[in-house]
Amino acid sequence: MAPNTVVIIGGGIAGLCAAIAARRLGVDAHVLESAPRALRGGNARHARNFRIAHETPVWHTPDVYSAAEFLAELEKTGCPDEGFARGLVEDSAGVAEWLMGCGVLLQAPDVGVLPYSRRTAFLLGGGKAMVNALYGAAARLGVSFDYESEAVGLTEVLGGWEAEVTTGAMKKRIFARAVVVASGGPGGDPDWRKQHIGEGVLLRGARSSNGRLMQLLAERGCKTLGDPSSCHMVAVDARGPEDDGGIVTRITAIPHGLVVDRHGRRVELAGASPKKSHYAQWGARIAACDGGVAFLILDAHGFAKTLPAALAPIRADRLDALAGKLGLDGAALAESAPLGAPPFFAFPMRAGLTFVHYGLAADADMRLCREGNTSLFGAGMIVAPNFFTRGYMAGLGLTLSAVTGRRAGEAAARHVLN
Ligand SMILES: Cc1cc2nc3c(=O)[nH]c(=O)nc-3n(C[C@H](O)[C@H](O)[C@H](O)COP(=O)(O)OP(=O)(O)OC[C@H]3O[C@@H](n4cnc5c(N)ncnc54)[C@H](O)[C@@H]3O)c2cc1C
Repeated sequence: MAPNTVVIIGGGIAGLCAAIAARRLGVDAHVLESAPRALRGGNARHARNFRIAHETPVWHTPDVYSAAEFLAELEKTGCPDEGFARGLVEDSAGVAEWLMGCGVLLQAPDVGVLPYSRRTAFLLGGGKAMVNALYGAAARLGVSFDYESEAVGLTEVLGGWEAEVTTGAMKKRIFARAVVVASGGPGGDPDWRKQHIGEGVLLRGARSSNGRLMQLLAERGCKTLGDPSSCHMVAVDARGPEDDGGIVTRITAIPHGLVVDRHGRRVELAGASPKKSHYAQWGARIAACDGGVAFLILDAHGFAKTLPAALAPIRADRLDALAGKLGLDGAALAESAPLGAPPFFAFPMRAGLTFVHYGLAADADMRLCREGNTSLFGAGMIVAPNFFTRGYMAGLGLTLSAVTGRRAGEAAARHVLN
């Protein structure tokens, strides 16, 4: 590595923004990404919109979403520091312009089937298109990449950091004067999920965002923030993949039917409105069911209101036949599920993890909080608990990752140039 190289660990949106920002200040930027090229981009591959403050309508986001309103909503998600919250909201106003400057395309609000949103801008072609645009912009600037290269160690050495990197059976060591850790939050590791979240929880995103490097840094003195057992989960189709199910396996039809557990007993959400989807609450509720599994049961009327699903529902003309197909007690189901006209449909459900409210503490430049640290920075979900520690607001993940990625990349470059 050239002496003025910033090494960025993780090629998700945060790492890409950090690499582009660092390179634009004149330093070399090298990205280590543990996933293969086809799966590059981390969880941003699955994302579709990001949250921006705007005081007037913009072509891609209608009406107004003031900084004051954004800040008030962010404060409800347990931001530990008001200054951090303000900075994020202020910087959110420039995210759309910055991404478009990298070749990312946005979707006009009145086109297609996207829902109305004055709080968020939608990506044309979705997250995968954004990821490819950012990789293209970074490559044109001269950022270099190593795929299938996992940083398995990071040690402070004289004048910087030495990363231990594995690529298949090969091992190498890379020195950098400044490092940006953008390896995502924990949760991708199934053992970690089992220990902190619960059994049978599926992962909606990238398995490679496994939190191992975060754990290692915590053991080496980086301060942690948040609660490893607090997370965002939604109901997903239990027949979906163990990881990377993305947004298509989410079960959206819960308001149109009834939920039962594996014993055929009715499962409800305390205080839920029948008209609202309560996506995030259902994830945790299903995780708490026996075996971490539940079933959405719909009659013909309810099914007519559901949106098309990636996996077809299980169907039967009689409720007892449906119970048989699901392995449920028919009598218990009939008692718990007073349904209307046949045919009947069911979706088996599990909880799907989106992210965990746990990460590393940082200062305003995204320098990780560790005694004497000047050259180790964090970006994206690994530093998310500096901004919110409970709940979620749609579009916050991408905005936070883009804002902290840019900040960390620029601060790391300045450190190298000084
Ligand atoms: C299904 C789904 C839908 C979502 N939809 C939205 C949305 O619409 N809007 C929104 O704002 N947010 C959304 N999010 C959240 C958003 O995607 C994330 O907040 C954001 O992508 C996080 O980016 P990141 O770069 O911090 O981390 P990640 O996306 O987790 O990327 C980390 C990268 O680091 C790599 N890596 C990990 N460890 C190492 C290592 N040791 N060495 C090298 N590389 C490593 C990983 O392979 C990965 O590519 C969604 C998330 C999911 C799962």
